[in-house]
Amino acid sequence: MQEQGTLSVNTENIFPIIKKFLYSDNEIFLRELVSNAVDATQKIKRLSSLGEFTGEIGDTTIEVSFDAEAKTITVSDKGIGMTADEIKKYINQIAFSGATEFVEKYKNAEDAKQIIGHFGLGFYSAFMVAKRVEIISRSYKPEAMSAAHWTCEGSTSFELTESEAKEERGTDIILHIADDATEFLDENRLRGILEKYCRFLPVSIKFGEKIINEVAPIWTKSPSDLEEKDYKEFYKSLYPYSDEPLFWIHLNVDYPFELTGVLYFPKIKQDLSMSKDKIQLYSRQVFITDEVKDIVPEFLTLLHGVIDSPDIPLNVSRSYLQADGNVRRISNYIMKKVAEKLQELFKNERESFETKWKDIGVFVKFGMITEEKFYEKANKFALLTNIEGKNFTTEEYIAHIEAEQTDKNEQKIILYTIDPENQHTFIQSAKKRGYDVLLLDGPLDNHFINNLESKLEKVQFKRIDSDSIDKIIEKEHKIESLLSEEKTKKVKEVFEKTIQDPSKTVQVEALPPDEMPVTVVLPEFMRRMKEMSQMSSFGVGAQMPDMSQVVVNANHALITQIAENEEEEHAQKAARQLYDLALLSQNMLKGEALSKFIDRSLEMVK
Ligand code: ADP
Repeated sequence: MQEQGTLSVNTENIFPIIKKFLYSDNEIFLRELVSNAVDATQKIKRLSSLGEFTGEIGDTTIEVSFDAEAKTITVSDKGIGMTADEIKKYINQIAFSGATEFVEKYKNAEDAKQIIGHFGLGFYSAFMVAKRVEIISRSYKPEAMSAAHWTCEGSTSFELTESEAKEERGTDIILHIADDATEFLDENRLRGILEKYCRFLPVSIKFGEKIINEVAPIWTKSPSDLEEKDYKEFYKSLYPYSDEPLFWIHLNVDYPFELTGVLYFPKIKQDLSMSKDKIQLYSRQVFITDEVKDIVPEFLTLLHGVIDSPDIPLNVSRSYLQADGNVRRISNYIMKKVAEKLQELFKNERESFETKWKDIGVFVKFGMITEEKFYEKANKFALLTNIEGKNFTTEEYIAHIEAEQTDKNEQKIILYTIDPENQHTFIQSAKKRGYDVLLLDGPLDNHFINNLESKLEKVQFKRIDSDSIDKIIEKEHKIESLLSEEKTKKVKEVFEKTIQDPSKTVQVEALPPDEMPVTVVLPEFMRRMKEMSQMSSFGVGAQMPDMSQVVVNANHALITQIAENEEEEHAQKAARQLYDLALLSQNMLKGEALSKFIDRSLEMVK
């Protein structure tokens, strides 16, 4: 038998496209060929278990080899093989009927990377790196008296002959590597590609003397057959440089979509990008990508681990992916599982949940801010931590502060600090009144606060240095000022002249006499505006000055003294010292102002 032929009229465009447009990702040829070898091997096993193949299965190890001198790479399997007719059918016809569609679709696709495998063109990806490809295949079928030998030189003509050379069942794919792809004739390069794409394929793959893959990775097993240490070891093998994971979820669905996997909760670094984008996506154990950000909601990309699903379409653009029904269902499922796992830990092991909160809080908050569905579940276990380190759910916390911290307008005021050291004076004032203060110093806490306020009724978050405490939580009862209107005006003028800073406004207020004589505050509203605009891309926030307020306590004895002082210079000197002390207590006295303050203080000690 000898046959020569032309592949198909529609096919002319395919080779240049394969070669030119997919070049950047040409290493996937090996993934495609090895996957085909795996499929062929699994098919013979299935036929055997069905009793349709009664011969000896034997060792089915797939072998990948190369010959630098002959410039060939060979993938050999002991799968079902193909008869000459099957080669015509599967390689010549089927592939090329997909080709027209491929060329059509390719024109609009954003990234061509994943497309090739999806149009029955996996095999033809060989032409990205080869100038000539041979198939020598011997079918398992008893009527296959000899092997078939197909050769194609990357044009639309092929040659098909009989071959006596192959005695065993299976297929050898021999690539004659093109001159511009000789980088692949290198042991380390090939091993690298195999380890990346084929590390968890379900049939043993030999390269050199070694088996390079693990045929039954943990996500393919039943959780009841696994121990904690198996999950930890697997994590270590995926991310050798990471800390131990906090906990994990084993995913396993087969209806209405197929999905398996193990997702780990890592200790999330302060810099979120360090933890992001580590999830690996597989399709029946073939590595596809570690970019899952179009497949799962962004906050889930902070998790680590493996997702394996043949139901995620890989041949389409990003915008299409997000609109795809399966992708949406998969992502909702994962979100639900993650929320359930956290809920379960919270319910059954609250103490341990609380100790882990520091590490998972950012993740949970990220999810609550960005995904409504996750918020609904997570608000039952998301924790608020006060400066004493006590944890509360939002509901518990509101119940905890309600009695003391409701203001005259029925607003429940939640006090928080981002820096207990530098805001110590303010915290003291709050404590004196029996108020509680939360610590909110995480990278997403700004957004988190805004989000909670929009969800909760009559609840406001106010930073402890946003005003004097009795203004932050204003009660019905008001303190009388000890200063007359005239004196109040005078004090204000003295401070204005002393400070001389257009970004600071002076306000004289009647506070309890034991409160600081002067405090510098940054109103909550102003600060949030600034923070928001800093985060927006316009960057106007950077130029927005800190419009802080200097609150002068009309009822403090030292302020009364300034009010009574007839000598202006004297009064200003006192005002300067009190203002500097206020700045000092908030760690805001710096540079020249600090040196001058120290000089003045030394002078006074004399
Ligand atoms: P796909 O694998 O997506 O179907 P391919 O172009 O990679 O597309 O392969 C086309 C067909 O050729 C396969 O479906 C299979 O029937 C056949 N084939 C490819 N490689 C092998 C192999 N190593 N052994 C047996 N059959 C193969």
